[in-house]
Amino acid sequence: MPDTDRAPATDDPDSTGRAGLRSDCGNCFGLCCVALTLTRSADFAINKDAGKPCRNLQDDFRCGIHTRLRSEGFPGCTVYDCFGAGQKVSGETFGGQDWRTAPESAQRMFEVFPVMRQLHELLWYLTEAAELAPARPLHDEIGRILDETERLTHLDADALAELDVAAHRDDVAAVLARTSELVRATAPRKKKRDHRGADLIGARLKGADLRGGDLRGACLIAADLTGADLRLADLIGADFRDAQLSGADLTGALFLTQAQLNAARGDTATRLPVSLSRPSHWER
Ligand code: SF4
Repeated sequence: MPDTDRAPATDDPDSTGRAGLRSDCGNCFGLCCVALTLTRSADFAINKDAGKPCRNLQDDFRCGIHTRLRSEGFPGCTVYDCFGAGQKVSGETFGGQDWRTAPESAQRMFEVFPVMRQLHELLWYLTEAAELAPARPLHDEIGRILDETERLTHLDADALAELDVAAHRDDVAAVLARTSELVRATAPRKKKRDHRGADLIGARLKGADLRGGDLRGACLIAADLTGADLRLADLIGADFRDAQLSGADLTGALFLTQAQLNAARGDTATRLPVSLSRPSHWER
């Protein structure tokens, strides 16, 4: 599903050492196009049950409309990001045996994929946390839970399917929240508003100073963040669908993902963290 035509925001986003946490569709058995449910909406032109291949998935596990996803009514496919879980499940957990030639393992593979995606998403955040200088007092703790998360990704298929990933996610979230507090405390803005989980649908935040703000889980659907300053703001889990980020400054924003950017709108003046790429559908 990822939009592999994205232009990088920097010369080398993978200089941040997260290459294994980026989707590599050429080494995946199209898992997101089979394992997940699609619901007819503004994001997907069809209904599809989990475990059923999308009608656009070709025999070689490539999308037959990859270059026309948005015009054909599948913008949701350009937003989705598996954090590299697809190639991990395909190549490692199932040893390169695909669900077409080994249909007896298909259901297990489709069960494991969303578990692996969650683990890889946690690895994304923890890798970032481990690089943040103000979080140095937590780096040993971050390193331990990062190693444990990595270890879990190497479990066999049955163990992954049985894993209590929600409990592990809670443990990681607690560490990330403390990391966030340490980093956001360094922001120059004196009064840091708490927008955690806030309903900011369609909010007019043009030019807003949100430096060091807590926007964890905030609903920013269609919000106008043109020219907003989001440096050092914690954006984990924030919903940016159709949010306007033209000219916004996201450098140093915490726990932002490619999927969040892909869901938003922006332009060449939007400033991005070094680890993320500028979506190709943004205004030129
Ligand atoms: S439209 Fe293409 S990218 Fe989207 S689910 Fe179907 S095959 Fe996958």
